[in-house]
This record gives sequence, structure tokens and C-alpha cells, in this order.
Amino acid sequence: MIDLHTHSCFSDGTDTPEALASLGDAMGLRALALTDHETLAGLPRFMAAQSSVKTLLVPGIELGCRFVGRELHVLGLFFDPDDPTLQTRVETLRVRRNVRNEALIARLQSLGIPLRLEDVQALAPSELLSRTHFARCLVNLGAAATPSEAYDRLIGEGGAAFVPFEDLHPAEAARWIHEAGGLAIVAHPGRFAGGNFIWDEAMTVLQDMGMDGLEAYYCDYGPSEQRYFLDLAAALRMIPSGGSDYHGDYKPGLQLGTGRGSLRIPDSVLETMLEHLERRIPA
Ligand code: AMP
Ligand code: MN
Ligand code: MN
Ligand code: MN
Repeated sequence: MIDLHTHSCFSDGTDTPEALASLGDAMGLRALALTDHETLAGLPRFMAAQSSVKTLLVPGIELGCRFVGRELHVLGLFFDPDDPTLQTRVETLRVRRNVRNEALIARLQSLGIPLRLEDVQALAPSELLSRTHFARCLVNLGAAATPSEAYDRLIGEGGAAFVPFEDLHPAEAARWIHEAGGLAIVAHPGRFAGGNFIWDEAMTVLQDMGMDGLEAYYCDYGPSEQRYFLDLAAALRMIPSGGSDYHGDYKPGLQLGTGRGSLRIPDSVLETMLEHLERRIPA
């Protein structure tokens, strides 16, 4: 069993990179990737933990992009986390995120919600502020009853205070990841556009943009959805990646590896990825 989509306290998860590595090892995972949103900051500590665990630790990242006017997430896996060009590129996203966060605060204030950036920062474990932290803060402030309501009514796509910052083009995301030696994967396509989207043709467009794989195994898929994405990956000869999207305490009920209980991502996915990477290097 493997898990190639998780978050640490360096983005909007609550576990440290070391805790994630130990947890994966204790569960007997064959491979585990750390894929924080728009940051490489947790990877040095995560990769340093390799000396004390048997689980193969895979460097990763999750990049928010825009595709047909909607938010699409792209995962990078197996790239060189020390690649200086990738580091510079990711740093530009940190700036975009900060600008987005300030606009989000302004929107909320214009709706009469007195949230301040300092309040969100006080609640976040690292300097990266995500909507996950905004949602928690809005609940603490009484502006929403639950994080889910905060997304639906205020800060989620379609909410009154929604501000997009994911203006990265998927082709650009794929190029960044490839140039650092990694694989580009379409994250949770089943969640795209609220889950109501016919993928067959659109996925070929993303494949042409450089996507090597798609997340065919994911915490929120039912059996038929998983089957659909496995078949789609097979038809397009894309890698059927998979992950729990574990966020620690920020997504209660969601476990590393097993997701909501029934997730099982086979080791064969890892083998396929390693073969893919090997083929890329000329003999
Ligand atoms: P950000 O990267 O700051 O734009 O925040 C994106 C994160 O917010 C996602 O990865 C989710 O963890 C969370 N999020 C956004 N919208 C929703 C939603 N409708 N329901 C649950 N979580 C959401
Ligand atoms: Mn998240
Ligand atoms: Mn995502
Ligand atoms: Mn994620």
C-alpha cells in the first residue's frame, strides 16, 4: 500500500514532516509522498527522515492551477527538491498567495466580517496561510457555523468572498515539475468543478499539456468513480496515481493511507512511476 498525496504543518496539515514519515512507516506503507500546497519548505525535513524509516519517502508538491475557468490541482512527484529553478518558481507562488490572502481579507471585511490577517496567522503553524486556516478562523469568529459553511457561503469557489489566486497554467505547472525531474499528476479530477464534469476529452487536453498521470485513487471516490478514473487512465496510458489527501487534524476522519477506511493504493502504482522515470533517462 502507498500514499502519494499528503499535507504537513508546512501547508494546511497538522503533522510535522517527521511525524508523517513515522506514521507511514508504522502503517507499513511502501511509499509516502509529502505534497504541501505551493511550498517545498517541509521537504528537507521529510527527506532527512528517510534514514530512520523503511517507507520510500517521495518529494512532492500540490500546485493550484486554472483550467477552463476553474480551480484544478496538479501534483508534482519525484522531482529534485533542491532544484534551484523550481525553488525560485515556487517562491513566486508564495507571493501570489500573499496577495490573494490580503484580497480575501478585504473582501470579507467589505462583507462586514472583521477578520484580520494576524488572526489567521495566529492560528496557522507556519507562515503559509491557506483557506483551511481562514475557514477555521471564520468559525472561531462566529461568521460561519462550520468550515464547510465557510467554504460554501464565503471563501470557496462561488462564495461571496472567493478570490482566486490559482492562475498558474497547467502546462506551466507540468513544465516546472518536468524540468526538476518529476512526474506531473492531475490531482483529484473527480472533485473538479464540484464533481460535475465529463473528463474524457478534457483529460486528453491535459495530457497534451504534459500530465503524466491522474489521481485514480482518492479518499472521496466511491467504487464507480475509482473505476471510471482507472479506466480513463488506462485508455489514455496515463499513470493511475493515488493518495489520501491526509491533512492531520484539519480533515477529521481522514487517515493516512486508508483515507476514509476503504482506500487501498497498490504498490504497482509505484512500480509504474519508477519505470516511467527510468525510461525518461537516456541510457
Ligand atoms: P488555498 O490553497 O489557500 O486556496 O486553499 C485550498 C484548500 O482549502 C484546499 O486544499 C482544501 O483543503 C480547502 N478547501 C477549499 N475549498 C474547500 C471546500 N469547498 N471544502 C473543503 N475544503 C476546501
Ligand atoms: Mn489543503
Ligand atoms: Mn487539492
Ligand atoms: Mn491536497
